[in-house]
Amino acid sequence: MIGWEYFKPRRKQNITRKKRWPVNIALAVTNMVLMRLTVGNLAYLSAVHATEQSWGLLNQFALTPWASIVITLLLLDLAIYGQHVLSHKWSLLWRLHKVHHTDLELDASSAVRFHPLEIIISMGYKVACIYLLGANPIAVIAFEIILNATATFNHSNIDLPLKVDSILRWILITPDTHRIHHSTVKAETNSNYGFSIVLWDRVFKTYQPEPEKSQTTLEIGLPEYRNQTDLSFMRCLLLPFKAQGFKTNKNNQ
Ligand SMILES: [Zn+2]
Repeated sequence: MIGWEYFKPRRKQNITRKKRWPVNIALAVTNMVLMRLTVGNLAYLSAVHATEQSWGLLNQFALTPWASIVITLLLLDLAIYGQHVLSHKWSLLWRLHKVHHTDLELDASSAVRFHPLEIIISMGYKVACIYLLGANPIAVIAFEIILNATATFNHSNIDLPLKVDSILRWILITPDTHRIHHSTVKAETNSNYGFSIVLWDRVFKTYQPEPEKSQTTLEIGLPEYRNQTDLSFMRCLLLPFKAQGFKTNKNNQ
């Protein structure tokens, strides 16, 4: 994706990679080290544990492996969609999630720009969903791979032919679809919550096909955090604990 967006970008970026990438990469490395040292393998292990103990919904039925894999993939995706909506509506979660939204341009590196506490809380939530669901362990690994791959794809600044985009967006969240979610216009931020498939946005009527401005001119970020110099790595880590700019998307409309 980085190669593609370098040679054929969708939008001209006003803020250079040199300014944004150190923060995004520092957050990614922090999160990777943190997960390796703590709860990184917990999702898979809890799926194995739930299967061994016959806990959770799917383990109550004699499903074929393929059926349990497909249902796990779909329901975990629904769970992550729900978590994303909640992260925008609940002020405490929004404090963490807004770090992701303070990126002033979007590219593949934005996909790993998350506050470490959000990553840890997401893992706790995912583990709870896995136990409730009795998720298939293979599907849990597949889900993590799909989620990471699609998040990298839909945050990227690649120039996908419009025809390909219009076909793909019936199934997937494409870069043009997800860019709308990162718009400074609040009604647009409160749309397109999906991370991989577009199904849940269409079912729950949060799908927005086009932005108010054009894809190449829409402003990315949060109106209250438009100054790049205020968004250093340390400031991003401290951002959730600051009173300033503490507004949910809901209150901010
Ligand atoms: Zn979001």
